[in-house]
Amino acid sequence: MENNRRRSLEELEKKLKIKFNNLDLLDTALTHSSFSNEATKEIQHNERLEFLGDSVVNFITTEILFKELKKVPEGDLTKYRASLICEASFAKAGRMLELPKYILLGKGEEINGGRERDSLIADAFEAFCGALYLDNGFSYTRDFILKSFKEYFLNSIKLSVNLDYKTILQEEFYKLFKDRIYYRLVRDEGPDHDKTFYYEVYSNDKVLGKGSGKSKKDAEHNAAKDALEKLGIINEE
Ligand code: MN
Repeated sequence: MENNRRRSLEELEKKLKIKFNNLDLLDTALTHSSFSNEATKEIQHNERLEFLGDSVVNFITTEILFKELKKVPEGDLTKYRASLICEASFAKAGRMLELPKYILLGKGEEINGGRERDSLIADAFEAFCGALYLDNGFSYTRDFILKSFKEYFLNSIKLSVNLDYKTILQEEFYKLFKDRIYYRLVRDEGPDHDKTFYYEVYSNDKVLGKGSGKSKKDAEHNAAKDALEKLGIINEE
């Protein structure tokens, strides 16, 4: 390994507060196949580590869900896991660890924006976890993932799968502003059997979001979702 590369990987270790016994493993985890393909000598790339890491993260994530969500039935746990074990989520995780900066890419891939691509970053994240596991063992890897992602995993479950927007808004708003929120009917339209309700959610006379629906419940739910988007707590669709 060249000195520059070693220094840069050591910088990453320091940032993440981890230590590899065999730094070559970390190097390989962060080497994309496009880089190996362009090299004149044989250089290993991260696809085999990705294969291993996929299972490692899957298992650890399953354990986190099992232990943290004590009252959630199996069917829901499966849904939650599927929402976490996916490209978008792993790409986010890879970015949180600042992995993209350290990935070796071929020139073509670099020009085509590979460093910003979710699939490539997600694969590097899996490979990174595979390398960490090989080098330091299961419980080390588990501790690292718990420390780095438990909060993120549980929040993204709350926000993406369990669409209880009213509860989320109430909790998040209180966390941010230490204040309560209220809902009010603004107006309704249409005949009795086919009414549309218009609701606002507000706090201290400030309207946070608006929503309509065929029931009071739907209208409040949509108002809460609108408020969460406006507050930047969830992404607009
Ligand atoms: Mn993958």
